[in-house]
Amino acid sequence: MKPKLLITGGSGFIGSNLVRLALAQGYRVLNFDKLTYAGNPASLVDVENHPGYRFVQGDVADPAAVEAAFTSFEPEAVLHLAAESHVDRSIDAPGAFIATNITGTYTLLEAARRYRATLAPAQAGAFRFIHVSTDEVFGSLGAEGAFSEATRYDPRSPYSASKAAADHLARAWGGTYGLPLIVTHCSNNYGPYQFPEKLVPLMILRARRGEEIPVYGQGENVRDWLFVGDHAEALLTVLERGTPGQTYNIGGQNERRNIDLVRLLCQLLDEAHPRADGRPHAESIRFVADRPGHDFRYAIDASKIRRDLGWHPRQDPESGFRLTVKWYLENRAWWQPILDGTYALGRLGTGGA
Ligand code: NAD
Repeated sequence: MKPKLLITGGSGFIGSNLVRLALAQGYRVLNFDKLTYAGNPASLVDVENHPGYRFVQGDVADPAAVEAAFTSFEPEAVLHLAAESHVDRSIDAPGAFIATNITGTYTLLEAARRYRATLAPAQAGAFRFIHVSTDEVFGSLGAEGAFSEATRYDPRSPYSASKAAADHLARAWGGTYGLPLIVTHCSNNYGPYQFPEKLVPLMILRARRGEEIPVYGQGENVRDWLFVGDHAEALLTVLERGTPGQTYNIGGQNERRNIDLVRLLCQLLDEAHPRADGRPHAESIRFVADRPGHDFRYAIDASKIRRDLGWHPRQDPESGFRLTVKWYLENRAWWQPILDGTYALGRLGTGGA
């Protein structure tokens, strides 16, 4: 029987893709999620009645709620994804990032430590805590090089600083209390069920509506893109084969300048959803004021997870972006309520909140 997983943030973008994959692979899952603006039950509607799936609405920074989740579900592993995740929102209102990403991670680590202390030695030894982090904790690269697991931390946004703090806490709970803990750093994800504030769905949905397509600065910033399903597979690979105390970078060797990515999305939309006037979608690209402190380039060296754990991304980048454009075109029922409710595709992250 596969282990019982406590997945935090399972109603978010990566979390919902991970929950679905874990259930398909025979894991039982408790999804513990606060359902912030970014958490969406509609992302898991197809598995909500799965016999292996349970959901608890709760805040990772609430010690009583977290402890109750451990004692009632008795997980054999934790995959901690719950976070405030959008850099632009962290610039406007950093408080929630401190509360969830730092205090929430501390609360979860403490609950996991206390719960594991109640387990028999064999179960305590097999217990795993996978702490899901980002490449953004390493700061910004110049034109050359890539982040390795040994790269020095240099977070520069409130989001990445809060994730860096959480990483340090997680490693401290491994080193000090012996919690069998693994940290992962993944590059930018794209794919189905991503909240439309993020670059890829924002560009697709604005272009589809015939609106201006805003690109920060001159679009020269470089990101390393990985299909979300490949990240989910990597996390289950780390859970099954990773070594406690180790760190694994996860990435797809798929670097693109933002402007090149946006042009590709426009081209895919030209094919799948031509404009009524027959003009190319790329005509609507506009360069707008840059994000304050915008990191220039991220690139992940994922050779360790490939070599040691045998993981590699399955999705070819071109087909992954094509699939993503198609998914957003075909799943208006998922995103329209968001646009009508919490987020109407406007500018965030000017720091003026
Ligand atoms: P997301 O914003 O789509 O989802 C976050 C989820 O966490 C939501 O369901 C939200 O309701 C939940 N949540 C927020 N605060 C909570 C709290 N206090 N208690 C319980 N649940 C809470 O984020 P995502 O893009 O799916 O990212 C998931 C994780 O992966 C995050 O830790 C993020 O830092 C990390 N990550 C993301 C990317 C990326 O490209 N999206 C890349 C690398 C790492």
